[in-house]
Order: sequence, then structure tokens, then C-alpha cells
Amino acid sequence: MSVGQSRAIAIAGAGLSGAVIARTLAEAGHRVEVFESRDHIAGNCHTARDGETGVLVHVYGPHIFHTDDAEVWDTVNRFARFRPYRNRVKTTSGGQVYSLPVNLHTINQFFGRTFRPDEARAFIAGKADRTIAEPVTFEEQALAFVGRELYEAFFKGYTEKQWGCPPSDLPASILKRLPVRFNYDDDYFFHRFQGMPEEGYTPMVAAMLDHPGIAVHLQTPFSRGGRDGYAHVFSSAPLDNWFGMAYGSLGYRTLDFERFTFEGDYQGCAVMNYADADVPYTRITEHKHFAPWESHDGSVCYRESARAAGPDDIPYYPIRLVREKAQLAQYVALAAGETATTFVGRLGTYRYLDMDVTIREALDCARLYLQKSAAGEPMPAFVTPPL
Ligand code: UDP
Repeated sequence: MSVGQSRAIAIAGAGLSGAVIARTLAEAGHRVEVFESRDHIAGNCHTARDGETGVLVHVYGPHIFHTDDAEVWDTVNRFARFRPYRNRVKTTSGGQVYSLPVNLHTINQFFGRTFRPDEARAFIAGKADRTIAEPVTFEEQALAFVGRELYEAFFKGYTEKQWGCPPSDLPASILKRLPVRFNYDDDYFFHRFQGMPEEGYTPMVAAMLDHPGIAVHLQTPFSRGGRDGYAHVFSSAPLDNWFGMAYGSLGYRTLDFERFTFEGDYQGCAVMNYADADVPYTRITEHKHFAPWESHDGSVCYRESARAAGPDDIPYYPIRLVREKAQLAQYVALAAGETATTFVGRLGTYRYLDMDVTIREALDCARLYLQKSAAGEPMPAFVTPPL
């Protein structure tokens, strides 16, 4: 296809969405300009070497790649060498360390028992609140699923700290991300393909963007006013920003990381959660354990806590409660009237997205654009509806 003379496509944001769309379109012969407001690519999966210890740091918190989608797995492996990595998370609750996700070891340790799988299943079924037929809230889901004791020990305090509201205000879908297992499998994820890019995510995204058809502009925010002259815009910037906060800011949780170093091994695992409400942080990440093939004497850790995002904070988790969903509906209506602009990714669609889903949606979005533009048809504002 020869489209060398046609107008370029603009992409706001050099995270996973922007990079995958840029690459797909560039390989189809388009010229792509990527605008990134930060001074680095890769969005919140950005990784960098710690200057003091040399450890590879997940700058915006832990990112573990996991997927069942073979094409997504092939895509990331095309741009980075992946090493096997299984996420095994521990949690500290009431002065003891337990295995997560809640599994047979957690149950036996917590209740001081030696249950076999079927016994544990029956025991937990006896604890579960059977009056809750169709759980709607996080709390109902937990009570119906594991009963009050495990809920209070492992989920209640952590969730209050993470989301800043009682779990009875949150949707059940948040808890559905976590399994409960009646065996000793402590793998945090079920997915077939799991791993970690050997040199981190930023070189992977750099390789995606390394194409003669792609130009990347760092520290260059892109806004609605800059659209003219482009054949199309894909925006992974926050949806509310794009429209000048016309309906107020969409609520996010932001994270604070308190960095500290340690000589040796601080906690023996990559992620230690802190379930108790009276511990002010949610988890401690010891980054060198994300790269067990490397060897470092020094260690760098992040103590992580969550709070409501202010206007100058980095948005992490979309809150998506009733108020935010009503606002979101207003922004979605505005977006539907926008010409030649498609909103993508976690910030463009105001959804909590794992990395693999982000890549899947970006591939689908770019391919849809290629079909639509070839057919002379308009591209929708959203490929996956945000509501
Ligand atoms: N969660 C919890 N206790 C934990 C870990 C998670 O209650 O020890 C809840 C919490 O509400 C969190 C949700 O489960 O927001 C999803 O957890 P996940 O580990 O997927 O969160 P992420 O690592 O993506 O922040």
C-alpha cells in the first residue's frame, strides 16, 4: 500500500495503546506522529534502572505480564525477550504472613487446620453467607464467597486503603479479579502465558515505536486544538482532559511510592501486601525480585499507598462509582460527536485495563481503522464502549 503522501495520523500518548496502534498503522504504510506529555515512553509500565542499586524498577508500580491471548503474547515477544515469571504475592495480616490468592495454605494457616481440598471447600462453604444470592457489592461478593473472617483479614482493610471507601460501596467486579483456590497453587494469575521482559517494558515499547513511519515527540502534550491536518487522532490521554473538563474531572486513585534501599534481601518476595487497616500503606514492592535472573547486592523497595488523585497527580485507577459513571456517560456523548478522533486505553476509555487487554484492544482498534479508512467509512469514537 502506498500512502506516503497522505496526511499523517496523530496519537496522543506513547504507552502500550499508542505504541501498538502506531506500529500497526506504520506497518500498513501510514505516517504516524506520537505525542507524549511525559519525558519517557511506555506510560505507567515504564521501567528504569535505579541509579544507586542498578535494579530494574517498575517506576509506576508492579506490572506483571499475563494473558491467554496467543496473538498478544506473540506481539510482546516480537519486541522483547520474555523470561518466565510467576507472580507469587504474600500478605501480612494480624501479625502473620499468608499466601495469596487465598488458597489451601492460607485457609489451613488462618484457621489452624490441616484440611484437604474437599474438606476446605466444605468448611468455607459453611462460612459463606448464603443469604446473598446475587452479590452486587465488593463486600457482598466477599461474604458470599469466603465468609466474614477471611474477608476481614485479607480484603476489607486492604480495599478500604486502596479505594478510599467502604467495600460496600464498590462493585463486586473488583473482587472477581482474585480467585480462591482449594489447592496449594499460589500463582496469582491463571493465564497460560506469563512472563517479564528481560530488560523491562520501556525497551519493549521503544522497539514497537522504532519504525521509519513513526516519529515520537516527548514532553509534547497533544490537545484537541492540535487535531487539524491529521487524517485521524487516537487519543490515550484522559478523556475528561480532552474535553477541557467540561463535566468536571473523572475520579482516579493515585499512588504514592516511598522509595527505600536495603543491603541484601528485604522481604524475600517481589510483592508483600499489608491487609490491616491500621498499616497506612497497601504493599511493599522489592523490585529486584521481578528479575530473578539478575543478581544485585543492594535492593530498592517501594512502599505504596493510594489516595484520591488531585489535578496534578498521575491517574492510576479509574474509580467508576455511580457519580463517575454518570459523568462518564456525558463525556461518552461528547466523544460520539467528535470527528476523526478515537479514544483508547485506560485513560481514554476510563477503564481499569490489564496490559494484555490494552494490547488486544489496540490491535483491534488499529485494524478497524485500516478497514474503515480503506472503505471510506468513519471510525467510531470508541472501539470498546467505556460503559
Ligand atoms: N485486594 C484485597 N487484598 C489483597 C489484594 C487485593 O482486598 O491483598 C482487592 C483490592 O480491592 C484490589 C483488588 O482486590 O483493588 C484487585 O487486586 P489486584 O491485585 O488485582 O490489584 P492491582 O495489583 O491491579 O492493584
